[in-house]
Amino acid sequence: MFTIQKIKLFVTTECNMACGYCMIKNSHDYMDFETAKVALEKYIFWTPSVWREKFVYFFGWEPFLNFSLIKEIVNYIQKRKKDYSFEIRLVICSNFTLISKKTLDWILKNNIFLSISIGWIESVHNQHRIFKEKTTKNAFEITTNNIKNLQNLGYKREQIWVWLVIRNKNISDFFYYFKFIVEQIELNHINIEFIIEKEAWRQQDFIIFKKEYKFILKYLLNSIKTWNFIFLNNLNWTIIEKLNKNLWKFSSPVSYLTEIHPSGDVLFSWFFTHLSDEQRKNVIIENIKTWNNFKNFENIWNKKFIDEYFSDMQKLKDFNSWEFYPFLKSYISNFDDKIAEFILEKSKKYLNFKKYIDTIFHIYF
Ligand code: SF4
Repeated sequence: MFTIQKIKLFVTTECNMACGYCMIKNSHDYMDFETAKVALEKYIFWTPSVWREKFVYFFGWEPFLNFSLIKEIVNYIQKRKKDYSFEIRLVICSNFTLISKKTLDWILKNNIFLSISIGWIESVHNQHRIFKEKTTKNAFEITTNNIKNLQNLGYKREQIWVWLVIRNKNISDFFYYFKFIVEQIELNHINIEFIIEKEAWRQQDFIIFKKEYKFILKYLLNSIKTWNFIFLNNLNWTIIEKLNKNLWKFSSPVSYLTEIHPSGDVLFSWFFTHLSDEQRKNVIIENIKTWNNFKNFENIWNKKFIDEYFSDMQKLKDFNSWEFYPFLKSYISNFDDKIAEFILEKSKKYLNFKKYIDTIFHIYF
């Protein structure tokens, strides 16, 4: 069965910031409503849903630069609601700096989920999160105040996924930073985002990382014991996979990675924005407005393809620390594996652990 469970609409390729570690190539394209509408019809409404919910992500660079389009799309989805049986979760991925009081009200009213990236504690965040315009504005304060204002309006903290930007330079503060996000900014859904930097990871960075990550997992376990749950994206997926090995039976991974760019080109990684026009032609699944090639969804996701194009990506001169990535991934998955087993074992006996697992399933399905 061919299905698409999640699409990412890149409503603009422009950002109001110019962060030093930004991994996507800036340009100045804006999606139009027709492109978004075809994408929704073709991938969301015309393909069946394997689970209760499908997901529409509004991505950019900074999606709120094209807020008028987002509002138009959300209205369109709401009008079409009566025609389909599954739910649609709407998620905006943003730096959350271009937000007015009216925008906060709109987010609340339309039950929008948010995915917000925070680049470490205030001083470090501001060092890297630089506005394009010349200004003395405090980026960290703007983002976190907007989150607080939204929470004060009654927005549930579970609706925000925070992307925690991890840098080797500040790795000894990893646990402190994690706790800060939970206790000071009051967020409990966390996704660790490793930044691929110019500076390579050193041996001692890995040792510190392992120690800090263990503290985080201990802290997370304690959150289950006290019913004040904290969720970690990578650990969630380890638990889900352990419980349901057939999860992907009905869909290919590409059905979760479908990206529609303003031109209408459909890809499955924004890394491909770094490829030359010639190379890029080979990784486009189809153009939403001009041709149909559903077969490419299956064909394109194969080992040879991934090896070839991701190894090209690793040669990009701006990102010299690619080699660290598999190590961190393997450390994390080893730890997660043990913790997931522990949580599953406890869930057979204790209600709080069982509730924790049920909530994880509810986050994604
Ligand atoms: S806010 Fe995000 S998209 Fe914009 S420049 Fe920074 S890292 Fe890149």
